[in-house]
Amino acid sequence: MIEALRQLVDSSGLLTGTDIGERYLKTRGYGTAGIPLCVVRPKSTAEVSNILKLCHVHGQTVVAQGGMTGLVGGGAPLGGEVVLSLERMNKIEEFDADGRTLTAQSGVVLQAAHEYCDQRGFMLPLDLGARGSATLGGVISTNAGGVRVIRYGMMRESVLGLEAVMADGTVMTSLNKMLKNNAGYDLKHLFIGSEGTLGIVTRAVFRLRPKPKSINTAFAGLARFEDTVAFLAYLESTLGGELGSFEVMWGAYDEFVRQRCPSLRPPLNAGQAFYVLLETLGNDPARDGAHLEEVLANAMEKGLVADAAVAQSEQQRAAFWAVRENAGEGYRALGPLCAYDVSMPIRSMGDFGERVDASIGKAYPGATTLVLGHMGDGNLHVVAAVGSGTPETHKRIDDIVYGIIRDLGGSVSAEHGIGTVKKDYLAYSRTPEEIALMRMLKRTLDPKGILNPGKVF
Ligand SMILES: Cc1cc2nc3c(=O)[nH]c(=O)nc-3n(C[C@H](O)[C@H](O)[C@H](O)COP(=O)(O)OP(=O)(O)OC[C@H]3O[C@@H](n4cnc5c(N)ncnc54)[C@H](O)[C@@H]3O)c2cc1C
Repeated sequence: MIEALRQLVDSSGLLTGTDIGERYLKTRGYGTAGIPLCVVRPKSTAEVSNILKLCHVHGQTVVAQGGMTGLVGGGAPLGGEVVLSLERMNKIEEFDADGRTLTAQSGVVLQAAHEYCDQRGFMLPLDLGARGSATLGGVISTNAGGVRVIRYGMMRESVLGLEAVMADGTVMTSLNKMLKNNAGYDLKHLFIGSEGTLGIVTRAVFRLRPKPKSINTAFAGLARFEDTVAFLAYLESTLGGELGSFEVMWGAYDEFVRQRCPSLRPPLNAGQAFYVLLETLGNDPARDGAHLEEVLANAMEKGLVADAAVAQSEQQRAAFWAVRENAGEGYRALGPLCAYDVSMPIRSMGDFGERVDASIGKAYPGATTLVLGHMGDGNLHVVAAVGSGTPETHKRIDDIVYGIIRDLGGSVSAEHGIGTVKKDYLAYSRTPEEIALMRMLKRTLDPKGILNPGKVF
């Protein structure tokens, strides 16, 4: 197999043995990676097709990899697979200002695509903390979310068309550029969010948006969860569609940042029960900042908001976002972590926060439980540190968090996918009929089960 693969790529396109760096083996979350047969790094769709044809004939399993920033072990080899890394398929192929589209290969890094669009007055709205490593193929295959979903939707909403290589090597080119195209089934959705189990995404056409002319960022402190819900509704009704982010942090997260993250500067005083980081994306730089300040002042007058600050410079804006995104130094000091990405109806979020904190605290007295997330999208993240990182501990906390999610009718995965890490809990959020249909699709598109086996179900 290795020798046959070597014939299909150039001299640096195949890695074996000790040449396989950590990058291809690492796994985040708490799955463990196995040793793959080899790593193959194609440069074109034709090469991907030839690789899959060969693997299909021989029943050889294949796992696709982009930037390996996924958080559920989806890209990690379990043992014996051919790792198919898209990292060398990193060309931007076409930019169409009139049609507002970008066509690019899957291995382009998200940040490189952002910079390319930015220089041309456009934006690819999907944005997330791993932007410097995550690839376009990866964010498509996980249907990533991030911090702009409330305004622009998840990755699915930014993909107009794509090209995928099927398990048997067939190239399915569907590089649609139109916003409207109802000519039969919309096949791209089979591949968006399917975590490399139904096909390998090689190229895609992205829908671009005009770059906003003004960005205004604020921090607000609120006394009750009901106020955060009412504040969100108030902003949506007064900002005329300009709300780009609405991130909520429970008070315990703010305390943790103050105690454990000396490099971060929370902009408001301590002591609020909830903090919200919000951002507007507008087109009138002369007016947008003042408008946001006026809206916040009104929210304070109504008693929704107890305290607020608006960033007065790009430096302050970055400092506000750092409080939300850069708590890594504090997390490391907590020891082993269990981290969760879940979604639920917005009205259930307050209840979820209380229940998760109380239940983990009861099982592990002294535990640190932090809740924060993309509230506008119904998506929360939980970080729990209980002083132990054994598989048994993880399972016990998983059972607690996902059990509450099941009770609330939420989803065990809001934006990270299922991979290996959440497999055991898929049925908490999907009916037997839904899972049976997923399996039927898998059997149809990949009858030999060679694409990313052991993931999702
Ligand atoms: C600091 C940090 C912050 C993050 N924030 C967010 C966030 O806010 N929102 C969010 O949604 N995610 C977030 N993530 C998770 C992660 O960035 C996303 O899941 C991202 O989409 C993965 O892209 P990748 O290129 O690294 O994919 P990988 O990790 O390499 O792969 C992810 C999955 O996609 C499959 N895959 C990769 N490329 C292809 C392809 N071309 N064809 C078919 N299958 C493929 C893999 O097999 C795997 O199952 C974050 C991660 C980190 C480390």
